[in-house]
Formats: sequence, structure tokens, C-alpha cells
Amino acid sequence: MSIAIDPRVAAFIDSQHGLLIDGRSQPALSGAQMPVFNPATGEELTRVAAGADADIDLAVAAARRAFEGPWAAQRPADRERLLLKLADLLEAHGEELAQLETLNNGQSIHLARALEVGAAAEFTRYMAGWATKIEGKSLDLSIAAVPGARYRAYTVPEPVGVVGAIVPWNFPLLMAIWKIVPALACGCTVVLKPADETPLTALRLGQLCLDAGIAPGVVNVVTGSGAQAGAALAAHKGIDKLAFTGSTQIGKVIGHAAVDNMTRFSLELGGKSPVIVLDDCDPQAAAAGAAGAIFFNQGQVCTAGSRLYIQRAIFDQVLERLSAIAGSLSIGPGLDEQAQVNPLISAKQQKRVLDMIGQGVADGARVLCGGVAYGEQGFYVRPTVLADVHAGMQVVREEIFGPVVVATPFDDIDEVVALANDNQYGLGASIWSNDLAKVMDLIPRIKAGTVWVNTHNMLDPSMPFGGYKQSGIGREMGHAAIEAYTENKSVCIAF
Ligand code: ADP
Repeated sequence: MSIAIDPRVAAFIDSQHGLLIDGRSQPALSGAQMPVFNPATGEELTRVAAGADADIDLAVAAARRAFEGPWAAQRPADRERLLLKLADLLEAHGEELAQLETLNNGQSIHLARALEVGAAAEFTRYMAGWATKIEGKSLDLSIAAVPGARYRAYTVPEPVGVVGAIVPWNFPLLMAIWKIVPALACGCTVVLKPADETPLTALRLGQLCLDAGIAPGVVNVVTGSGAQAGAALAAHKGIDKLAFTGSTQIGKVIGHAAVDNMTRFSLELGGKSPVIVLDDCDPQAAAAGAAGAIFFNQGQVCTAGSRLYIQRAIFDQVLERLSAIAGSLSIGPGLDEQAQVNPLISAKQQKRVLDMIGQGVADGARVLCGGVAYGEQGFYVRPTVLADVHAGMQVVREEIFGPVVVATPFDDIDEVVALANDNQYGLGASIWSNDLAKVMDLIPRIKAGTVWVNTHNMLDPSMPFGGYKQSGIGREMGHAAIEAYTENKSVCIAF
């Protein structure tokens, strides 16, 4: 049974959805619109403005004026207070935002409440605190060029400027917050381009920033396609920093565009994260952990535990239990509080996931569970467990971004290190064991930005997050986020 839709959500969906530029909602200059779908039904939910180059020009100009004008005049304590107010508003509108996200993205309402709203508000408060704690260093220098002269230097982290933020559809509101809030804490202004599929909470967020008292132009939201609005933002000469989360393929395009303008950039990209289960584990508990690592948000998570390596002594037991769990999960719309597996984002993504499973089977993989779509409508894929895979297969090498895990046995630690690292990505990894010596041996040998032990997918605002190898460049969260949105100025004084 789906929960009743909050009347404010229905009213918002039925309203006009313009671009948010300089504090005003306005249609795209071309007048173009694009449809937004409900993944649970496949039906059109509403339409939003489809921005392009000329709209991005306006948004960047507004962000520049705000950066040099009202926002520059705010003291760090003012920025902190405004962001704390924003966190309060996120919570005050929590149910409304969560329902909107579930309708647009398809994800579980539980997840939307806990992450898109709850974790987003906590992240906002954590980052608000940094606004008043950004500090440089004082340096005693040894320059000997002029006899008798003495020098002292200090460093000043200055806001990098106007930030272009391009975010994906898997956690639309949270990803937007991850970019906007640290940027604002540092004194930057932002042009946000939400994903084509999920523009709605970004527009609501832009409005809530205004309601919090953040000056018009500090946060601008340009909805539109990646090919038009996204590409225009990435290549814009008026942007000082690009912050991107999305696929490695598009991340490379963004990186090239950034380098052409010498725009600073950070990229949080794809993953194919290994889950390593040692044979001291209780097979039941390990299977539950592995299920959570891959089926959370239908595997549409950049750190999804999509490659499962189980030590041979417990391989069959873990796989049997994992398949039983996967087969028992109830499937339904995100607004159904009982549903444990929800639709994928789009028909395109559903087809991509099913095609990759099909390729895996053609390459010799054995389907232990799932492997097919579910239902008459909506973009569902049943939780899928594949065995009899080998390292060369596409299903083992490439990111699927769906509820699909490939399982491989291993005999010893050296072997699993080689298997786990044999991939272009290096975003996350988890090790499941209570054998401390083995765990401590493994941690430094795994090439990943985050290594979890006896847990997976757990993030915290204080914990730097980002990728090794093709999983990205730079780190978000913690103090790393402050470094990402500031330039370090050295001041050298002779006396
Ligand atoms: P996914 O495959 O998960 O949709 P993408 O990397 O394609 O991931 O998309 C992530 C974000 O990048 C989205 O906001 C999308 O609109 C945007 N995007 C896609 N193509 C481009 C592009 N050529 N230039 C800039 N942004 C793009």
C-alpha cells in the first residue's frame, strides 16, 4: 500500500517549473521544456524548463554578481547561520521533500527520509560549522636575497569563486547538498545542473535556500539535459570550479572541458566495489552484509558492492543465503513502505542492466537469482546474483548500476588482493572478518578511496570520500571539502 501524497507535493508537481536564476523562476530562453517521469509507473510526472547555453550564461552572470556583491559581504558567522537555517528548513519540509524524491527517483520513501533529508540536514549542519573555522598558516621565511631584510608569510584560503555543480540522479537532493553547502560555507556561489531525470528536489532546494535568507543569485538551478545545459556549464569560462558526480565517461568530458579553461575541478565517478568475505565469518551474517552492500537503492550507488569475493570454505553457504535473501525481498514502488526493492530510474537504465545481465549469461555466468525484469509497469529489475563468473567478463569488469552482484570464490589473501584490484575503478571496498591480522594486512593493499570493515556504504560528513584510479579526482566531505572550494593565497611581507 502506497502512502498518501502530501497535498503540498501534489501542488508543487502541478506548478510551473522554471529555471531558478537570480532568485527568480523563469522559463528557458528558448521556451523548451523536458518531461520528468515517475519510475514506478513509467508515466510522465510533470515538465521542467530545458535550459541551454544562453540560460547558463544568465545563471553564471547572476552567480558572479552575487559572489562579488551580497555574498562577499556576509561574515563567516552569517554564512554559518544561513546554512543552519537551511538545515532546519530541510527538516521542516522533510516529508514533502522525501515524497517528491521518491516520486521522481523511484527510491524507497525510507531512504528518501533518512538520506535525502536526514543525512542532508546533518551534512548541512556539519559544513555550516566549517564556515567559521577556515584558517591559514603563518610561516617564518628564510629568504636571503636582500641582506638584513626579514620576511614573514601567511596563507589565506579564499573562496574559489563561482562553482558549477553537475550532479547525478541516484541521490538527487543529497548530491546537490554535497556540492552546494561546502561551496557556500567557503563563500562561493553556485550554478547547479541537476540530472536530466531528477530535477524536482533541486528546484525545491533552490527555493528553500532563498527562504533561508541566502541572497538571490547565490544558488542558481538550471534544469536541462547533460548534452546542452551540462556541457554549457562545464565549458563556461565564467566558472571557477566544476564539481561533478556521475559516470567516468562523462567525468572525462568534464575534466577536458575544465582543463581547457584551467577551471579547478573535482570528479566523483563510477565504481565496481569489491566485497571481500573471509572464512572466519558467520555465513548468514556475511550474506546479509553482502545483500545490503549491493541491493541498497537497487544498486544505483557509486560504491555498490557489486563484486563479491568469498573465501572458498564458506562460498556455497554465503551464496545460498544471499540468493535466498535476494529472492525474498518484496518489490514495489518507493511510496509503498513495505517494498524493499524499488524501480530503477528509467527505462533506459532498466534496459542497460538487463542487457548486461544477458551479456553475462552469454559469457557463461549462472543466474542464481533474479536476472529478469519485474511487473507490468515501472522500471523494475529483480535482485540478481550471478556465479560462475571470471575476471574477464563484462559483468565483472564494468559498472552496472543496478541490483546485480557477481560472486567469485578465492583461496588466499594474495589471490583476493589481486582479484579486488584487477579493475579500472577504486572507489570503495569492504572486508568482512574479525581476524584482525588479516584485516590489517588487507586494508593497505586494497586500492580504493574508502575501505570499510564489517560494513559497507556507510558515509559520514567528517569522512573524506572519493576515488582512486578511474573513480575520480579529489575528495568530498570533511576538511577535504573546504580545500576543494578554496584557493590558497600566500602573502609575503618584508619588514
Ligand atoms: P548517469 O550515467 O548516471 O546518468 P552521467 O555521467 O551521464 O551519469 O550524468 C551525470 C550528470 O552529468 C547529469 O547531471 C547529466 O545531465 C550530466 N551530463 C551528461 N552528459 C554531460 C555532458 N556532456 N556535459 C556535462 N554534463 C553532462
